[in-house]
Amino acid sequence: MSLQVYNYESGTVGSSADSPGAHLRFVFEDHACPIGSTAFDLLYSLDVSDPHIDIALPGVTRVPLIYKVRDPDFSELAYRVTSDNQIVIVGDEAPVNLPCLDEQKAVKFGFKSEVNDRSKAEDALKWAGIFGLEHLSDSEMNRAVGIVDELWRGDWEGHCITPIHLYESKADIVRGEYLRPFYQSKWFSCGDFDRGCRYNESDATVRAFATYEQDRNAPLFGSMSPLLVFTFCPICRCINVENQ
Ligand SMILES: [Zn+2]
Repeated sequence: MSLQVYNYESGTVGSSADSPGAHLRFVFEDHACPIGSTAFDLLYSLDVSDPHIDIALPGVTRVPLIYKVRDPDFSELAYRVTSDNQIVIVGDEAPVNLPCLDEQKAVKFGFKSEVNDRSKAEDALKWAGIFGLEHLSDSEMNRAVGIVDELWRGDWEGHCITPIHLYESKADIVRGEYLRPFYQSKWFSCGDFDRGCRYNESDATVRAFATYEQDRNAPLFGSMSPLLVFTFCPICRCINVENQ
């Protein structure tokens, strides 16, 4: 599966699968792209002009996705992108330089559009945690309920976090509990909230703009299978990475 990026406005999903393999070569040949003397590596460099990308930062044309590859601990981290060449990791004072432009080009690549018709039950379910299910008609929602029933083999109680008697219908359960591509939650908070970001007090939403799911053909994290979720806080403009 590898990297997926989500554009909420157009409802498009971009996938790194089958895209020109620059990033795959990079991963296999070098295994890591260290960011200065930090423990972090540059995983990908997103070109903000790509129509699949739904993140905008003033004065920035490339959004770096970073994480620990050499010694992954799968803990959360947050950072701000201050320019194309520099980031500040939340908790550290000093900005750190990203790997130089030539190296960044090696991890920059295009995305292939995934088929996504939000009015169709199968597609809507595939990305339910991202785009929700409100584009489904009543009959497609009924079909979605049938698909989930089959997937869960009729065991609704066993697949839900909230007791199912608190829902009014199976459609409501699907809306509240079917979270794909996420495993644990589709609600995200600001990665820098502890330092006083006030995102909660506005209408702005922290949402996922990219996910990385371990790719058998390009395993960034060896035998481990994380789902990394990259979210963006529109108030303090930090990028948060968490693992589900
Ligand atoms: Zn924030």
